[in-house]
Order: sequence, then C-alpha cells, then structure tokens
Amino acid sequence: MTTYQCPECGFKYDESRGNAHEGLKPGTPWLSLPQDYACPSCSVRTRDDFEVVNPPPQGKSA
Ligand SMILES: [Zn+2]
Repeated sequence: MTTYQCPECGFKYDESRGNAHEGLKPGTPWLSLPQDYACPSCSVRTRDDFEVVNPPPQGKSA
C-alpha cells in the first residue's frame, strides 16, 4: 500500500487506511479515485498533484 501526500497542505492519504470521512474504505487505491478528485483538506490540489510518500529505508544506506 502507498501513501500519497498533498504538496499544498501536507494532507496524507494512506491506501491501507482509506478515509472514512470521504467514504473511502481501507484498501482503496488512490489511483482508483477520479482524476479530478480534490484534496479533502485544502481542495486546491487534485489527485494527480499528490506525491508518493516513500517510507524511509531501513537498514540500508542509499
Ligand atoms: Zn491539500
């Protein structure tokens, strides 16, 4: 599962958790949302503006 973050306000959408407030069930893929789905927090950015949040690597150095 992937977490996506709004570059405008920092809102995060975690696919494994969904967003109950938005009616998104846990496991709902971000990319399954409409392309013009607006950020639930700031409504400024849309789905495609969101950036993938990569978890920090563990036990490795880049
Ligand atoms: Zn936002």
